[in-house]
Amino acid sequence: MSNPIHVVCPHCDAVNRLPAERLVEGGHCGQCHRPLFDGRPIALNQARFDRHTARSDLPLVVDFWASWCGPCQMMAPAFEAAAGQLEPRARLAKVNTEEEQGLAMRFGIRSIPTIAIFAGGQERARQAGAMDTNGIVRWVTSQL
Ligand SMILES: [Zn+2]
Repeated sequence: MSNPIHVVCPHCDAVNRLPAERLVEGGHCGQCHRPLFDGRPIALNQARFDRHTARSDLPLVVDFWASWCGPCQMMAPAFEAAAGQLEPRARLAKVNTEEEQGLAMRFGIRSIPTIAIFAGGQERARQAGAMDTNGIVRWVTSQL
């Protein structure tokens, strides 16, 4: 018997409670019935960011990016591939710093891409600069 883990649905943002041992199986959202993990980063605005950091027990790995940033474009496929490897241990998300300037300011994002890990409502680590898939997976795993 283990404590239930709270997982925020990547599609409808409903908070799901599931036993920790069922996390590896993934499972479906009790509200929208879509998969809780589908190997893709989710796009977050400010409201969704706050919900996914405050209500989820999973670490949130955020790629702060912008459309004009070449290295960000190059890293996007690597970050997506990393999501497939890191789920369900972590939730991967993207924040467009042009559209979500409030979030970029709140966390003092000065260069992009920057990847930051949030857990327990707090930022735990950040790393600036583009990484390949293995680099992302290795760095995030070392921080969990
Ligand atoms: Zn849902």
